Amino acid sequence: MSEKSKIVAIIQGKCPQCREGSLFQFGAYQLGRFTKVHKNCPKCGVAFEKEPRFFDGSMYISYALSVGLFLISALIIYTFFHPVSEDIYMIAIISEVIVLYPLMFRYSRIFYLYIFGDLKYNANATKD
Ligand SMILES: [Zn+2]
Repeated sequence: MSEKSKIVAIIQGKCPQCREGSLFQFGAYQLGRFTKVHKNCPKCGVAFEKEPRFFDGSMYISYALSVGLFLISALIIYTFFHPVSEDIYMIAIISEVIVLYPLMFRYSRIFYLYIFGDLKYNANATKD
């Protein structure tokens, strides 16, 4: 079994400990189910939620991602389409938030788990 890099594991939403088990139960665009997180890693069994409501802190990361998205979008619109009305900025940013919401939600949780989950990579991690 080849060793997966941390970056690839983050992009794929994998467990920080084994980098094999998925954090989420369903795909990002299975609307209505994309928020479901496994309680434990399906491969190594480590608990993803350290305490009840552990992932509530990920809303700060979600906020930071949203602000970054707004700034980049505004900069692109300003650079390539200036002058345009403020309505164009609003429509573009609101559309992006709606379309990218599942990804923003998931990556905020993935980043939060990698930063605050206190899980170290262990190539030999198994369920038993
Ligand atoms: Zn795992």
